[in-house]
Amino acid sequence: MTLHERYADAMMKTLSPPLAVLVRGEGCYVWDENGTKYLDFLAGIAVNSLGHAHPDMVAAAQQQIGTLAHISNYFASPSQIELAERLKRLTGAGDAGRVYFCNSGAEANEAAFKLARLNTAGGRRSRILALNDSFHGRTMGALALTGKPLMRAPFEPVPGGVQHIETSIAALERELDDTVAALFLEPVKGEAGVIDLPEGYLRRARELCTQHGVLLIIDEVQTGAGRTGKWFAYEHSNVLPDAVTVAKGIGGGVPIGALVTFGDTSDLFLRGQHGSTFGGNPFVTATSNAVLGVIERDDLVGNAARRGEEIRELIVGMDSPLISEVRGRGLLLGIGLSEPVALKLAAAALVEGLIVNAANEFSIRIAPPLIVGDAELADFDERFRAALARVTSSGLVPATR
Ligand SMILES: *Cc1c(COP(=O)(O)O)cnc(C)c1O
Repeated sequence: MTLHERYADAMMKTLSPPLAVLVRGEGCYVWDENGTKYLDFLAGIAVNSLGHAHPDMVAAAQQQIGTLAHISNYFASPSQIELAERLKRLTGAGDAGRVYFCNSGAEANEAAFKLARLNTAGGRRSRILALNDSFHGRTMGALALTGKPLMRAPFEPVPGGVQHIETSIAALERELDDTVAALFLEPVKGEAGVIDLPEGYLRRARELCTQHGVLLIIDEVQTGAGRTGKWFAYEHSNVLPDAVTVAKGIGGGVPIGALVTFGDTSDLFLRGQHGSTFGGNPFVTATSNAVLGVIERDDLVGNAARRGEEIRELIVGMDSPLISEVRGRGLLLGIGLSEPVALKLAAAALVEGLIVNAANEFSIRIAPPLIVGDAELADFDERFRAALARVTSSGLVPATR
């Protein structure tokens, strides 16, 4: 049996068949079981911030797993404390900030959901607002926040009290009042195809949340850790949230999530109200410290901003009738298509040795490692042009699935 056949027999049917079976990675490239090399412009969906097998990340992970990997939350470790301090500093949460560690984006949002439930003001606040077409994860609470009714439908009832609103300043002004406990939002809707918020949206959300005592909870699971050309995407709007959730890119590949609270919000959770066995263990926090340390040392946030602009120019320069717009910021970009051919285009790219993602039929998402340089950009240019040519000359697109 091939590995693909064994996958089909053994794995739960929750996912589509795999695009390839990967066995090795280095920098911005990965190799499959047949030795085919791919330029990875998805980075495990915005996870592999330092690309693959980065020596500093490998050294830190090896060192920690060979010293002390896991200890339970009855104990603390230096790396856990250091990472909490680092996240307070990088998010701007400052002295009053606090950090809760878990293992994924969904779990970080579960924690934030429970936090929102604690902001009741004596029972007056019962509503939680989230946005249509948002994505916050697959567990029941995160699913309740997710603004995709079709995703929720088979699993109803999900936790109640969440109301999904249209992503407009008018809807914010209409819906935000003293009965709202929290507003959840993604600063760029990644899973929806890299959709930017309307101009001025985040600033207005901040003003209204402050005015009505509503927690502004920003989901930076995909956008955080420098991906958009700032440490956190809310910095582009010069606002601070009351809480931020992070995961994906802060671990560079180890499973980690965190909820960071700002100001008074840090006093909402009381002892015993939340926890996680693995959350913040020495292995993942030491690795995450190494990842964030390299991002700081090598100014990869600046690199994300610069390379993002260059990639945007490359895409615009392709001058393809298939491409209608480029969305997003830094190294989280959405390529809007004029025809519903994103799956075909992503498949054609794979044949050309390039990994990109069809977020939906009209959107290609790219999220390369933050370490991309001139060589990878030139390689992307060549391979994506070739993929576009395959699709525009149509009928030539080989089915890879
Ligand atoms: C990926 C993602 C999540 C879920 O993270 P998991 O680690 O898959 O649970 C939540 N929110 C956003 C914005 C995401 O992109």
